Parts: sequence; structure tokens; C-alpha cells
Amino acid sequence: MAFWPSIVVATPAHSGVGATLTYRSELSLAPGTLVRVPLGAREVLGVVWDCPATPPDGLTEAKTKPVTGVLDGLPPLNDRWRQLVKFAAQYYQRSLGEVALAALPPQLRDLSNVQLARRLKRRTTAGVDGPVPAGDVAEGHDLSDEQRQALQALATAQAPVLLFGATGSGKTEVYLQATQRALASHADAQVLVMVPEINLTPQLEARFRERFEPLCGAGAVVCLHSGMTPAQRLSSWLAAHTGQARIVLGTRMAVLASLPGLRLIVVDEEHDPSYKSQEGARYSARDLAVYRGKVETEALAAEVALLHAGPHPPSTGSGQGKPLPEGEGVNTPRCQVVLGSATPSLESWHAADQGRYLRLAMPARIGGGALPRLRLVDMNHQPKGAVLAPPLIAAMAERGYAPVLACHDCGWKSACPHCSAYRVFHKLDRTLRCHHCGFTERVPRACPDCGNLDIAPVGRGTEQVEEQLAALLADVKRPDGAPARVARMDADSTRLKGSLEVQLATMHSGEVDVLVGTQMIAKGHDFRRITLVASINADSGLFASDYRAPERLFALLMQAAGRAGRDASQSAASEMWVQTWYPQHPLFASLKQHDFPAFALTQLAERLSAGMPPYGHQALLRADARTQHAAQAYLNAAAQAAVGLPHFEDVTLYPAVPLTIQRVANVERAQLLVEAASRGALQRFLSAWQPVLLQTRSLPEARGLVRFAVDVDPLVI
Ligand code: ADP
Ligand code: ZN
Ligand code: ZN
Repeated sequence: MAFWPSIVVATPAHSGVGATLTYRSELSLAPGTLVRVPLGAREVLGVVWDCPATPPDGLTEAKTKPVTGVLDGLPPLNDRWRQLVKFAAQYYQRSLGEVALAALPPQLRDLSNVQLARRLKRRTTAGVDGPVPAGDVAEGHDLSDEQRQALQALATAQAPVLLFGATGSGKTEVYLQATQRALASHADAQVLVMVPEINLTPQLEARFRERFEPLCGAGAVVCLHSGMTPAQRLSSWLAAHTGQARIVLGTRMAVLASLPGLRLIVVDEEHDPSYKSQEGARYSARDLAVYRGKVETEALAAEVALLHAGPHPPSTGSGQGKPLPEGEGVNTPRCQVVLGSATPSLESWHAADQGRYLRLAMPARIGGGALPRLRLVDMNHQPKGAVLAPPLIAAMAERGYAPVLACHDCGWKSACPHCSAYRVFHKLDRTLRCHHCGFTERVPRACPDCGNLDIAPVGRGTEQVEEQLAALLADVKRPDGAPARVARMDADSTRLKGSLEVQLATMHSGEVDVLVGTQMIAKGHDFRRITLVASINADSGLFASDYRAPERLFALLMQAAGRAGRDASQSAASEMWVQTWYPQHPLFASLKQHDFPAFALTQLAERLSAGMPPYGHQALLRADARTQHAAQAYLNAAAQAAVGLPHFEDVTLYPAVPLTIQRVANVERAQLLVEAASRGALQRFLSAWQPVLLQTRSLPEARGLVRFAVDVDPLVI
């Protein structure tokens, strides 16, 4: 007997290949089975989507190729996973194969069944599984009242939870306890914990390992992020897929991991822009987490309903032999979603306003410490040209170098020849480096245009600030008599592998007195000794053309403030300084009060009147081409061709415009904004537009087009 499985393989988004390809097989293959199939001259990995016993119309044996191999050591990917992948592909306008195969570890392709069996065997000897005792003590401390209340509410919450907790309010402890409870609910339960950037949060990983390895065995906690080697990724993925791993800690890619026992998803710092992918399928891992929670919960509820409907008395469905209480109680199996932040995204905040999410607030810091006092420095009243205001420097006696190199005679600047951006001056190795394409050259001795020897840095960067600070604080002594130590932490200083860890360690150990850096130092670190945080130059966020800039600035400043006074004994003296030319700006009034709700209220009112997200819905069509003219011509032709498509009346198409950084690595970039009042209408229009976008590519107008992509719910306009 022959079967005709339809199989998903990795095809590029716009290759024009249908969602699935039909092959032939002697065996019936369960949906979700991983297989090897011929594609062109290659053999590729595929996922069985369906396996009918009759061929689709018009297909004969001669026209189809046989499945060449089955990865039979692996259980099939379950229905919920396939539903998630299908939704992600549809919603973000990509091919099913691209999304499905990108979610699998690349090494899976290259392993023989023998090698695979060996990997799997190695894993089964690692972990100890079984139920985990539920506990409610915080690492030897008692839970705070707020933590206890949040956990109580979590126990019965049916909607996704927005955990709105101040920095230092003990959100991590709530995640840990919620995890423990989820693991205790079922012998096979799994938990997914997502963080924006795992390298920046080694402490979180340490706390999860410390807490759960003793309870669940050494292999119970695994990481999943793009910084891992292919072998590590395969190992983590297999552990998650086979249920060996009980907890997966990961970045946005982890949202698509196979987790058959998933009972809880935590999205820490849910407002962070890095949850939105900026390439390939441009998905939001936070939004997919919410969708995934719903799909998993519905599937669990359907299982329970089946058990109740069956001829036997209902068993538990929770694996512990206890009877299931009537109604929607604590034991109703579900997959809970917890979104945590001190400065939630306005989308999530709005969802909580509407009652779609349950908002739980933890306003107080652990230990009752106050949040730092905000001090605005009005730069209008400071000495001309001062990078650091004297009062700020005085308070401390308690970001590359000036980025751009310029000629004061002829006006030459260190532009990158391949991008519409300036190269940054790096003092240490005396190079000019482009932060967009990486192009690096030694600093010229004289102005390349006029020969003037007097070329000098303009602007201000972390290196320059570091240097100035060191000079200004030269006379300040530490208690041991040694001079105060200034260190710098930014993308450049942490480029080498391991250097971030080293720098974090010197910071934690107290060797460093003043840390200068970019936004990366504001994120998540639990530095215990910081009492003063200063933002030197934040005004660009106030008036940027991007309507989300104030939201990001507010979040960043709150985060930064949250680094100060984490030790309650020092919090009374902790301060947050902000240098600004616009001290009257309303954003600062809310910031002063640490009042995110007030800030969100004014921002949401502005968004409502402008029809912006979350009240309106957006997508971008982006084009990369050899010339700016070609990029825009493609976009405008695509817009022309949209006239009359389904739901065309419900969307607004704006004219094509160049991106802010218009040229990167000699590719010109442009985009076209699509807006709609309803998400559904936008989705239906985009689906109808997709084939048109492909056809437009072969029009004469599109000559010179390199690629196009649709970005649904874009973060940067
Ligand atoms: P957040 O993630 O909300 O910024 P953390 O979870 O990092 O806050 O907690 C801040 C600090 O307080 C950590 O050092 C943590 O160990 C400690 N902590 C958390 N809960 C408690 C508690 N109930 N009692 C004492 N200390 C706690
Ligand atoms: Zn010159
Ligand atoms: Zn460049």
C-alpha cells in the first residue's frame, strides 16, 4: 500500500512553492514526523503535515518522489506545535516551510539515525524526572505580601497575566515559584522562560539552575539562544522535545521550540524590542507566546472534556491521582502565560485595560527601599559645551569615542563609503569603523579632501565620556586611598567572547567605581552597590520621528533608575540624574513620580487620537535594491497593483519613503506603510497582496530589486 504524505520543507518565503510538497511512502507517517526527502538535487529535512492514502488529483507515482528516510527515533512534533507554526507563518506572511524548518536545530539535518539514537541515549541517562514539590519560600526568605498576592492571583488566573512589578520588586522570585508550581502540577510539565538577551542575564540562569537542578536533576534546565554552537542547540532542542528538559531558558527563538508538556510561559521584560525579530519571519516572540498559551490551554481542556465524556469516571489529567475539582479550579490543566515588566509595552498595558490580560501590580521594592530620586539637570543653564554638567560631576565625587571625525576647514566627515552613515572613531586602535557594515580603516593622518592635518572628533561617545570622567575624578580617592576606577561597557568593549562576563564580574565585585556605557548596562543587572545613575544624553528620544521613541526612552530611564539603590540599606541615598535641554517635557514629570500608569495614559490618548497601535494596525512593505529609485519604484508599483484587492478599501497605503539609514553595505532601502483600523482587515488584505508582491517583482519597474519583505506589527517605522 502507498501513502502520499504532504511534507513541509524549507522554502524561501517568496519562492512561489506551495505550502507543502507531496511525496510517496510505503509506510503511513504520523503528522509531525521528521523525514528526509529529495528536493532538486539535494536531500533536505522535512516535516510530515498530513498523510493521505490517496494521491491528490493529477498526481501519479511517476510524478512523485519517495521519502528517503524517517527520523524514527524522534517522537512526532505535536498538533499544537504545528498549529503555532502555521499561525506564525500566516500572520507574518512567510512560507510554512521557512518558519517550521527555522524552528528546528540546523544540525538535525546532518545526523544519521545512528548518530541521532546515540544523542538521545546520552540524554536519557542525564535527568531525573517526576513531580516537583510545591514550595513558597524565597531562597530562605519569606515572600513579600505583594509576591504572595501575585502568586495567589496567578494560581487561578484564566487570562494571560501582566506582572507589572517595579525593578527590584522580586519578579524573578515570582517566576521561580510559578515555575515550581507548574512543574508540580504534572509529572511531564515543562516551563518556558524567555528573556530578551541571555548573555545579559547570567544571574537569571544561575538562579533557575540553583533552584531546580536539585529538584529535577542536572539536565533539567537548558538554554536555547542563537549564541550557542549547533551541537549545543541540538542538545537543548532534543532535551526539550523529548521532555528531558523541564525548563527551557531562551531568547525569542525559544518560543518555537517543541515543548510537549508546556504548562507555563514566562516572558521577562516583555516590552523589550528584541522580542521582535528583524529578519526572516519578523515575528514577535511575546505575541506568539500569548497565542501559544491559548492553543496549549485549549488542547488541554479538550483532553479533559474527552475524559469527562468517556465511559469511566474522570481521571485527573494532571497525573497525580487526585480527583479533578468541578469547574475552573486551580487544578484545571492549562498553559499559563506571564508577561513581566516594570514598564510594559503599551500594547500589553492596553490589553490589561480592556480586561484581556490580568494585571498584577507589585509596586514596592523588596526590603521597602525607595526608588531613586530623579534629578533633572537643565542643560540650558550649564556651561557651554559641557558634556557632563558640573553638578553631576560634583555629585559623582561622590559611551565608541566621539563618534565622528571631522575636518574643521572643509567640513569633511568620516562617512562610510558603503552606507549613508558616519564611521565611528575608535581611539584605542586608531580606526574608523562603520557600525552598520563593519567597514574599518586606519584613521587618516590628514583630511582626505583638503589635506588639513587638524582633523578632530566631534560629538560624544562612551569612550570620550569615560576619558573625561577619569580626568575629572582623578583626585577622588577610594576608602583605601587608591584613585577611583572608571570602566566602560558597550558593544565595542564586549565584542570579544567572554569579555562581557569578565566586565560584569569586576562590576559585581566592587572593583569598579564608575561604569560608563550604552543602554546595555541599564538592562536587568542586579548590581548591588550602585547608588547613582546618570543619563547624559537622552533628548533624542523625546522628539524622534518614530512614535514609539518616548515609550522606549521612558522604559530605558526607568530601567536605568532601577539599577540604583537595589540594596535597601542604600536606597534612601540613591539618585537618578538626567541631563536634558527640555526639563519641562511631560515625560519627565511622570518619570519623577516613577509613575508608569500616568505615562501610559497620556501616550495611549495620543495613540488613540492618531489611530496608532494598539488602536490601529500596521504593516510595512520593505524593499532593498541597487538604487533608491528602484526600491521605491517597486513599492509604488506594488501599491498600484493593490487597487481593487479584497479589503483594499479598509487599508491606507502610504507613499514609499527611504529608511532613516537609507543605504547599508551598498544596498538602498525603502519602505511603504500600510495601516488599517482592524487587525483582521489588515491580515486579509496582506494575504491577498502576497501573490501580487511576487508578480510585481518581475515587472520592468522592479529591475534592480534585491529583495522585499513584509513586516507585520513593525516596531520601528
Ligand atoms: P526584579 O526582577 O523585580 O527586578 P528580583 O527578582 O531580581 O527583582 O529581586 C531583587 C532582589 O531581591 C534579588 O536579590 C532577590 O534575591 C531578592 N528577593 C526577592 N524576593 C525576596 C524576598 N521575598 N525576600 C528577600 N529578598 C528577596
Ligand atoms: Zn578638509
Ligand atoms: Zn558601512
